[in-house]
Amino acid sequence: MKKDDIITLRIEDLSSEGLGVGKCDGFTFFVKDTVIGDIAEAKVMKMKKTYGYARLMRLIEASPDRVEPPCPVARQCGGCQIQALRYQAQLAFKEKKVCSNLQRIGGIAEPPMEPIIGMENPLRYRNKAQFPIGRSRDGRLIAGFYAGRTHTIVECRDCLLGAEVNRQILDAVLKHMEQYDIEPYDETTGSGLVRHVMTRVGFRTGQIMVCIVVNGRSLPHSEELCAILAAIPGMTSIMLNSNLEKTNVIMGKDLKVLWGTEYIEDLIGDVRFRISPLSFYQVNPRQTQKLYEKVLEYAGLTGQETVWDLYCGIGTISLFLAQKARQVYGVELVPEAIRDAQQNAELNGITNAEFYVGRAEDVLPRKYADEGVRADVIVVDPPRKGCEESVLETMVQMQPQRIVYVSCDSATLARDLKCLGERGYEVKKVCPVDMFGNSVHCETICKLVRK
Ligand code: SAH
Repeated sequence: MKKDDIITLRIEDLSSEGLGVGKCDGFTFFVKDTVIGDIAEAKVMKMKKTYGYARLMRLIEASPDRVEPPCPVARQCGGCQIQALRYQAQLAFKEKKVCSNLQRIGGIAEPPMEPIIGMENPLRYRNKAQFPIGRSRDGRLIAGFYAGRTHTIVECRDCLLGAEVNRQILDAVLKHMEQYDIEPYDETTGSGLVRHVMTRVGFRTGQIMVCIVVNGRSLPHSEELCAILAAIPGMTSIMLNSNLEKTNVIMGKDLKVLWGTEYIEDLIGDVRFRISPLSFYQVNPRQTQKLYEKVLEYAGLTGQETVWDLYCGIGTISLFLAQKARQVYGVELVPEAIRDAQQNAELNGITNAEFYVGRAEDVLPRKYADEGVRADVIVVDPPRKGCEESVLETMVQMQPQRIVYVSCDSATLARDLKCLGERGYEVKKVCPVDMFGNSVHCETICKLVRK
């Protein structure tokens, strides 16, 4: 098998990046733009020892689960990897992936799976969008998304996953830039001003935030842009973020209010949250509500428990659980998020939640060693890389009755469950929740009980 060979294969699975996976002559091939169930003719692009990459040439037989992607740039854009797969089939794929990771990496023979919690509509679900601003090849000002694995901007002012109002906001910003000859930032030279436009919408409150990220300290004639944006119903906060670094990180540290307040508010359940531009906030608020209800169910609270919520962000899970617990402690790395968490507690009259800034792997072992803190239930919701071993170690030493693990990467989840399993915690229930329809990502909640 060599480069440029033409092969025929049936797509059996999807890779973690959303590429179709099939076999031919004992080799595994990754084929972009194919979905499970396709029979494809493809051209070999690159060969490794046991696997290769091939490009789709022709669909010999389209999968019964193949659909026309609703977004016109689905194929170029790096955001959605599996729009061409029918939503029910997306859910089946995610469920299977979580289960097989728990078996393969976690060593759990029969994971106690509950059915995946899917979305009613896998479009228009995101409350946050970050559009890079640049120029097209022919020199026009454009906003859009990066094509997969590159920093080429695919023009798109109306991402179908995001709010409809984004288009109006981007139109106004680009028009303003044109009017005053404001240059977009150029990554290669480090020149130009406007880097990104970030938007956030409170789905329950209707409040809108716009944050313009610039390679500078100010935006020329910003009052005029604000006057136009402020006329959009729901506009609540217009912020300027300075990012002078030559980096891929979108946001810098410095924030300035151009108009309105420095945060927006939204509700999850009965709890009201204040969200500032730098804080993490779940991007799919409708599914978040379902996710947190599941966390609450798995936590099994009666009102008497002491709960630790590690990687708590702006305290969303902490405050949701505080209503049913005796005391909740949250730990989070980002100081701004903790400030939001404290304000959120106050805003909601919640007095039984306390928050600590720092890395979970520093705060928890220290609190345990110095003060002998204890827990009935520990909730963790770490980033993709999962928990540090020292966090897992300390959790086990604290001997909570239950651990609820919320994960956005079932591979690191499986690794951590194995570690907890060897230290006396048994997985009782697993529930995938689809927070990111049309992408390959999947959230999973696990309930572990002390043996
Ligand atoms: N539970 C929250 C946020 C989960 S996202 C919610 O549901 O909204 C993961 C969070 O972990 C982020 O807010 C991130 O800033 C934080 N984080 C990342 N590494 C961390 C670490 N080592 N210690 C503590 N928090 C960390």
